[in-house]
Amino acid sequence: MSEGKISVVVPAFNEADNLPLLKDRLTRALSQFDDYEILIVDDGSQDRTVKILRDYAAADARIRFLSLSRNFGHQSALKAGLDRATGDCVISLDADMQHPPEYIAEMVERWRDGFEIVSMVRRDDPRTPAFKRLTSKLFYRLINAISDFEIRPGAADFRLLDRCVVDALATFEERTLFLRGTLPWLGFRQCDIEYPPEARAQGDSKYNLRRMLLLALDGITSSSTRPLRLSTYLGVIMAGLGTVYAGYALILRLFADSAISGWASLLVGIMTFGGIQLLMLGILGEYLGKVLLEVKGRPSYIVREQSEPRPQSVAESPVAAMQARLRASRMLP
Ligand code: UDP
Ligand code: MG
Repeated sequence: MSEGKISVVVPAFNEADNLPLLKDRLTRALSQFDDYEILIVDDGSQDRTVKILRDYAAADARIRFLSLSRNFGHQSALKAGLDRATGDCVISLDADMQHPPEYIAEMVERWRDGFEIVSMVRRDDPRTPAFKRLTSKLFYRLINAISDFEIRPGAADFRLLDRCVVDALATFEERTLFLRGTLPWLGFRQCDIEYPPEARAQGDSKYNLRRMLLLALDGITSSSTRPLRLSTYLGVIMAGLGTVYAGYALILRLFADSAISGWASLLVGIMTFGGIQLLMLGILGEYLGKVLLEVKGRPSYIVREQSEPRPQSVAESPVAAMQARLRASRMLP
């Protein structure tokens, strides 16, 4: 019986120092399987990552790579890898060794038991910086409070996806795909495996506070439209309060012969309402901006180079597609 081909997809952004260890541990962990491929996606690295990947691919037919034309971000690099992986199941993990490849055997076992999505869930680790733990906790609290599907805290992008899940994801045309939030929506038979996280082998995290905030915003706006409703609720509440207060002021003026005075109350009112209005405009703007990006329909990544000849039917950039059409109609040599 064929056991099925296993693909491992690894997004890598300036990870040259981690690649040798990654390759060693991955090939060792995969040596027990007959058929596998390792697909490393260089996300516009500026260090020697691409050069090393070229050497790896030349020396070992089971290692492939993709190099994106610039830094498109972790999620897009992951999507690029998923789009090109050829295995019957696809495992994604980070290049910095925080996702131990030694768990692959267990993940594959669960897959063979019939699970289509096997997510690795990080056990809480006291060594993670307190600030990162706090922001991560806050993020999951917030996102779970407003989205329709439960996203498990600690579920990073270390998981196995069956071919049917990868094919389902390939039909998504979203520019900003937030896999963590999309997978619960997809359905399929899912299970979790807990693992103790490891420290980053070399280098620093590529997520600074700004990128974490952007990811959080992306995650929220792509998982739910509930924040849009917030302005309706707040509007009703504030209008109600305003009416009550206006009535109170009127009664005082007519019957008690004294008026509510003071700059302070006026200023508080203006600032509160102004603040809320700007906040709501901002939320609206976030969604509107996203609509614009989606409507433009640009691809979420562009491939500059890959380790094997480009398949005839797949053109990843509109320019390449146009050129192919022109060539077919003999308008280009
Ligand atoms: N990564 C990427 N593009 C980016 C940022 C990160 O491909 O713009 C990769 C990075 O090389 C690593 C993975 O995504 O393999 C996770 O990044 P990192 O370890 O910096 O994130 P953290 O573990 O701190 O959340
Ligand atoms: Mg990491």
